[in-house]
Amino acid sequence: MVVVAELRDGRLVEPVREAIGVARSIGGAGATVIGVYVGPPASEGVGEFSRAGLDRVVAVEGEPFARTTSSARARTVAELLRELAPRVVLLAGTSEGRDLAGRLAVEWEAGVATNVTAVEPLAPGPIQLTRPIFGGRATQGLELPGERAVLALRPHTFPPAAASADAAPVERRAPTLPQVPVGAPTMTGFTASATGRGPDLAEASIVVSGGRGVKTPENFAIVEALAESLGAAVGASRAVTDAGWRPSSLQVGQTGKSVSPQLYIAIGISGAIQHLVGMVSSRVIVAINSDAQAPIFKVADYGIAGDLFQLVPALTAEVRRVRGR
Ligand SMILES: Cc1cc2nc3c(=O)[nH]c(=O)nc-3n(C[C@H](O)[C@H](O)[C@H](O)COP(=O)(O)OP(=O)(O)OC[C@H]3O[C@@H](n4cnc5c(N)ncnc54)[C@H](O)[C@@H]3O)c2cc1C
Repeated sequence: MVVVAELRDGRLVEPVREAIGVARSIGGAGATVIGVYVGPPASEGVGEFSRAGLDRVVAVEGEPFARTTSSARARTVAELLRELAPRVVLLAGTSEGRDLAGRLAVEWEAGVATNVTAVEPLAPGPIQLTRPIFGGRATQGLELPGERAVLALRPHTFPPAAASADAAPVERRAPTLPQVPVGAPTMTGFTASATGRGPDLAEASIVVSGGRGVKTPENFAIVEALAESLGAAVGASRAVTDAGWRPSSLQVGQTGKSVSPQLYIAIGISGAIQHLVGMVSSRVIVAINSDAQAPIFKVADYGIAGDLFQLVPALTAEVRRVRGR
């Protein structure tokens, strides 16, 4: 079993720990779980990876990886896989992980599935998986035939592996393949979206979203303040983004982003089906709406029927008090 590391700002992204947990649980007691890191030099991040519950780490570090697209990483990871010969490779299902998963499957000639929410313990025969489809309104059972598979797991779906007291041994290797193939596009950098504050919306473990119920673009600050107090990402309904109150990169739903955080707080959002498909697989949904009949309450685990202008600032103040902010 191999788990591929993903670092951001030099730190291990949390869903990689979930992938390690899945590798442990599906592989059984005796399974060896090897971590693979391919990327720019990152001694701190690789150190963190080595303490995340792995048996062994293989790291291929090279400065040019910071400038390449995922194809160069995929080719190098595939080269390692040919040697390590695992049956299953697990990645965090972040946008980067999903991108790498597809390329890796081609390079390594393996089956691939993304957005995976359950994996059965490995046994002879096809690998049994589950994933949501149609925006979370149905669940698809999949059998992945073949000798090997690449799986990108939906973030925040699985418990993370317990960190190990001792670091796993790290074997460092020099890149053997050209990291920037001739004629390949070169990555010049990342630019944060206009909303660059807080965690990434699609990967955040808490999302606080606001809808037309906030009434004006200025009032949307109420939603942002609660998000900030919780360390959450900010989302919005299409009513908000269409009105230009906030950029479309914040939109959650059918024509926006799909999110599956641990906690989704919908404020002044009615719960139209096009919004629900983007957030209904969130683990816990809290809705605040003055209309007790609003459809959002049908999917909410906790609902507060009341005026957001009273409730949300009070909630923010309480969160700040409890968290000592
Ligand atoms: C093809 C298509 C694609 C779409 N894609 C998306 C999408 O990706 N994402 C998306 O969100 N929508 C999408 N929509 C739009 C969707 O149908 C809804 O129009 C939209 O989600 C409504 O946004 P809203 O809930 O913010 O506004 P509304 O439906 O107007 O709801 C506002 C809510 O605020 C509540 N409210 C008002 N005042 C207060 C108060 N003081 N306190 C508390 N609550 C209050 C009201 O009771 C109401 O429930 C799409 C539509 C189509 C046709």
